[in-house]
Amino acid sequence: MPKIKRIYLDHAATTPVDPVVFAKIRPYFSEKFGNPMSVHSFGQEAMAAVDQARVQVAYFLRCQPKEIVFTSGATESNNLAIRGTLKAYQAKKENQGVIPHIITTQFEHHCVLNTCQELEKEGQIEVTYLSVYADGLVRLADVKRALKSNTILVSVMYVNNEIGTVQPIVEIGQLLREAHSVERIARNSKRSTFRDTRSKILFHTDATQAVNYFDCDVNKLDVDLLSLSGHKIYGPKGVGALFIRDKSAITHVQSGGDQEAGMRAGTHNVPGIVGMAEAIRQIKSSKSKVKNNEILKLRNYLIKKVLKEIPKSHLNGSLDQRSPNNANFRFDDVEGEGLILSLDMEGVAASTGSACSSGSLDPSHVLLALGLKHEQAHGSLRLTLGKSTTKQEIEYAVKILKKIVSRLRKISGDVLKEFK
Ligand code: PMP
Repeated sequence: MPKIKRIYLDHAATTPVDPVVFAKIRPYFSEKFGNPMSVHSFGQEAMAAVDQARVQVAYFLRCQPKEIVFTSGATESNNLAIRGTLKAYQAKKENQGVIPHIITTQFEHHCVLNTCQELEKEGQIEVTYLSVYADGLVRLADVKRALKSNTILVSVMYVNNEIGTVQPIVEIGQLLREAHSVERIARNSKRSTFRDTRSKILFHTDATQAVNYFDCDVNKLDVDLLSLSGHKIYGPKGVGALFIRDKSAITHVQSGGDQEAGMRAGTHNVPGIVGMAEAIRQIKSSKSKVKNNEILKLRNYLIKKVLKEIPKSHLNGSLDQRSPNNANFRFDDVEGEGLILSLDMEGVAASTGSACSSGSLDPSHVLLALGLKHEQAHGSLRLTLGKSTTKQEIEYAVKILKKIVSRLRKISGDVLKEFK
């Protein structure tokens, strides 16, 4: 039997490490193995690499190197952003007895949602989960309406990991800035409806799925906190970063050593940090821009072809406000899990949604947030393209997909007939 070639269409779950990145990382596993916190030359060598990586990440985000904290990934960055902001708030004497309020969306990654839900259950915060509507987009008016006198943090993801929709981060940043000016004027004229002691509402965005394709200049975005991850951008797994705007009211949540200026205890993942910084550097290259254009063209071709050739197929979320590598479909009368397994047997790696919740049989919380019914949310498929994706692969994937959807529909039709 001829060996089935494997096609990887799950780049939102993870990406392969770029060979250039891999070459940069290698020495930090072997001859340059020092602990950056050691004072001897081995340590200094490693610290120099971490410092250089910090400068590279800061250059990409257009911030100061001291505003970058290296973490173990976006999950930790998001936890630090939320829990650290809360901890700093609770530490202030004047805030004793006040339950702070956090605004986020219904379709954040589980590391944001579960953190908020846990803190809410413990009675530490109150949370507003913004709707995202059928197009998968947050409305500015909803953010404005949700703001309260005790709001301390707004956390809205830049690009959704399942449906790829791009949120109006610049506009939300601007809205929050205006809200602060209004507050300041009101406070000065002593007509404040806000608590006078309240500090700035911090604005956090989870940019994990945005870094490859969108401008992450933190000043243009007007964010105070921004999370990213190495393994979504052709860098290594187990490394990430959190941008923390200078002087933001945020405290460490992990106790231990003095690494990362006390913001994140634990020995640095030097190869990971070096690799993530190199991956970020690659994004700015002109080659990468050309690639992203090709990815967009291929993705548009894929969407057009699927919607044309497969009956009763639909695209989930807005087409225009969407990451160039993402296509998320639903097929009437088809189970997503069956689809994924059948595709895998034919050599096509895809997913129903987030890899982090693929063990769960619950329908995607993202698709439910769009207002889809349970059975619709179960029949979805995420195909995410990457640098190596070719037109032939897309042609093959659509051909196989068409065959499988028709077969699965026939099976479910036959089963239904049996029960009649
Ligand atoms: N946020 C988003 C939007 C993601 O896509 C992911 C990865 N699925 C994460 C956070 C978690 O990232 P990490 O794997 O680096 O913890």
